[in-house]
Amino acid sequence: MAKIQRSNYLPYIQHHLDTQGNADGVILDIKCGICNERKLDISGSARDLTSSSLPPTKHLEAHRHLPRYLEHGLERTVALACGHVFGDRCIREIQSKATGDLTCPSCGYQVAYKCGHAIRPALIPVDGHELVRDKFPLTTSEGAEDPNNCLACRWKLIRSNIRYALADECIFCRQMEAAHMAVDKATHRAHRNQHINTGLRSMLEDIVFLVWAEFKTRETTSSAARALDDSDRHQAHVSLLDAMIRSEMLEETLWYRTRADKTMQLTKEQLKSHVQGVASIEDSVFELLMSSTREQRRMW
Ligand SMILES: [Zn+2]
Ligand SMILES: [Zn+2]
Ligand SMILES: [Zn+2]
Ligand SMILES: [Zn+2]
Repeated sequence: MAKIQRSNYLPYIQHHLDTQGNADGVILDIKCGICNERKLDISGSARDLTSSSLPPTKHLEAHRHLPRYLEHGLERTVALACGHVFGDRCIREIQSKATGDLTCPSCGYQVAYKCGHAIRPALIPVDGHELVRDKFPLTTSEGAEDPNNCLACRWKLIRSNIRYALADECIFCRQMEAAHMAVDKATHRAHRNQHINTGLRSMLEDIVFLVWAEFKTRETTSSAARALDDSDRHQAHVSLLDAMIRSEMLEETLWYRTRADKTMQLTKEQLKSHVQGVASIEDSVFELLMSSTREQRRMW
């Protein structure tokens, strides 16, 4: 394997990115550091050279578009989570031979989420009017944080948080019972009210926070304005979910039942409507999660 060039490290190609005003047709004057042959292309048309817009995986037919690539002498550019950039095909080739996680050929970074699942290399195409440098993720040495968990693992956590927040059986009473503490009606009423009035909202805030994983990019638009946007959007979604919970009449059945107090049992109808309510909240949060992922895809 060819020696990896320093130029594949993002900070070294930064000046090219800064001076390329017209993104379409940008070809960085930099060769892929793995094959040391093909030029890295980040133009929108690079994506069109292959019919697939999917991020590369082991299973894609990597060589299907080889002739057209060769014809153009170009290479789609992918960034690994450490911020190093390479030609798409070379990375795919390494991936197809790797037995475990992909490691960056340049810095040895193990390209995996905190949950242990693989992070797919990010294809970097640029559409006409976008600033080129914004599309590149920060490198780890520039202070980018490791992405948290993969989408599937995040959803598992989010769903268990939803179920915890919207349970029909009182969580506190259950905990008190487990600790052999007496559960009385007045205490139960108090913590249940507190949950519905304030605790629920803070749990929803935590849930919505989990929806947007923080991938940092070098975006040049005002980061303060962006942070404000993010926080507005965050609050809007919390309020929406809060309103949904109230309009679905989940409010009545949240943390209602206690094992110790048999008089506090949900009727069959109540239980059914509770289960439906929880499912509809889960659907909404799942949609949020999926749309946040699409946003990230666009960003990358
Ligand atoms: Zn290459
Ligand atoms: Zn690296
Ligand atoms: Zn995972
Ligand atoms: Zn209780």
